[in-house]
Amino acid sequence: MAGGGSIQAPRGTRDIFGDELERLERLERLCANTAKIWGYSGIRTPVFEHTGLFTRSIGEVTDIVEKEMFTIPRQTDKAGADSFTLRPENTAGVVRAYLEHNLHKTQGLTKLWYVGPQFRRERPQKGRLREFNQMGVEVLGLQKGDSQERRSPPIANLEVMLLATDILNRAGLKGRVVLGYNTVGCDQPGCRDRYREELKELLAKEEEKLCSDCRKRIERNVFRVLDCKKPNCRAVCEELLTWHSQERPEAFCEHCKAEIEFIKNRLDQFQEGYASARSWFLVRGLDYYTGAVFELSAQGLGAQDAVGGGGRYDGLIEELGGPSVGATGFALGLERILIAQQDAGVDAFEIPDVGPLVYVAPMLPPGPSSSDFFGYGTESQLQMADDAFRLTVILRRKGFRTEFDLLKHGRKIANSLRRASQLGARFAVIVGEMEAKQQEVKLKDMETREERRVKQADLAAEIWKDIG
Ligand code: AMP
Repeated sequence: MAGGGSIQAPRGTRDIFGDELERLERLERLCANTAKIWGYSGIRTPVFEHTGLFTRSIGEVTDIVEKEMFTIPRQTDKAGADSFTLRPENTAGVVRAYLEHNLHKTQGLTKLWYVGPQFRRERPQKGRLREFNQMGVEVLGLQKGDSQERRSPPIANLEVMLLATDILNRAGLKGRVVLGYNTVGCDQPGCRDRYREELKELLAKEEEKLCSDCRKRIERNVFRVLDCKKPNCRAVCEELLTWHSQERPEAFCEHCKAEIEFIKNRLDQFQEGYASARSWFLVRGLDYYTGAVFELSAQGLGAQDAVGGGGRYDGLIEELGGPSVGATGFALGLERILIAQQDAGVDAFEIPDVGPLVYVAPMLPPGPSSSDFFGYGTESQLQMADDAFRLTVILRRKGFRTEFDLLKHGRKIANSLRRASQLGARFAVIVGEMEAKQQEVKLKDMETREERRVKQADLAAEIWKDIG
């Protein structure tokens, strides 16, 4: 700011008004309604938090914490004063709120969405701002498990990936989005730790070709090297990882391998409006990820082509003082979606209505049945679970607010109906063994108590018929 001259907005910030504000607000409503359709409820957390929340969650050796945080320093003359930071992302704040309000005790599995500004002191360029808006979701309270059978199935991770693509499709970006996925391994011995050691060893041999930051990262946080955008570092990583991905078996545990295979198959199966592929270099910029991670890119954005990203993060809740449960989620950059829309010539997009609540229940045996999704269940159990989730996705894509229990797949029919009425469901869809065999379901109108069998392919149309 020149002395006496006019004052301008700080670099990397923008004034939004007129048509552009209209568009942003519409996009926010689209995001909110789509998240509600997928069974998420909203949360707003403060724009600033204690600095320690971010250093502990995002990780000390990350670009965000090392150089991009807007921090209001502690006032040294005041006892008990703390330093605060404008949030660079919203996951840490949401997890803090989840713990502070004991949602982990009162709600079991918690599904939340948020929208709001985030702040990072990055070098501004097209699609990269210092204040930008994100929409995101978090699924909190998944079973981490100490064995394959006890870990929650990757269905929650798949759900958030499909929700992100549903938002982008509804925003008019159908056919212009690529979803890249990868795994960064989990905390089980011999998985992420082994991968870390292997990478260290491989990269140490190429040390002299890496930038000075990356040389330090080899010891401090080797995954960050894979994230470095400097051409020399990228070249080293690509060479190593191409070999790594093609010529040697994966370093990860059986569970993580099964998880990524599951995600690959289902992403192919559910494909609508996006392309998907394994992205071997993807590690994500933050420390808290474990297991399957993903990133979405869109045409028309140039160098900053990521519109969003996320994945499973099993370490964070415990790291912030909570129970040993896992989580998954994503964040989408709203300004980048607006740029991608402009490039695609999208003027208008519809804001979906949130349709009546439908509760979908597969009739699997009770108990944690994550293994069903890895092929250990019987064929007919697997079919029921698969059908139920597939129908859930179809109904959500058509705008019905649809509940599907991500934690337990085993409920007795009476329990399921009780749960459906507790939630205020207008319809219950029961996928039993007999029905699944004939590609049918039982559709129960919770108001009239009437029940009938309908073809799975006609389910949405049959529900529309009932609500007129
Ligand atoms: P991240 O939390 O870094 O994975 O970011 C999620 C999404 O937010 C990215 O894919 C971008 O679309 C958006 N985003 C991140 N940083 C910025 C930024 N500095 N300016 C604009 N959008 C951003």
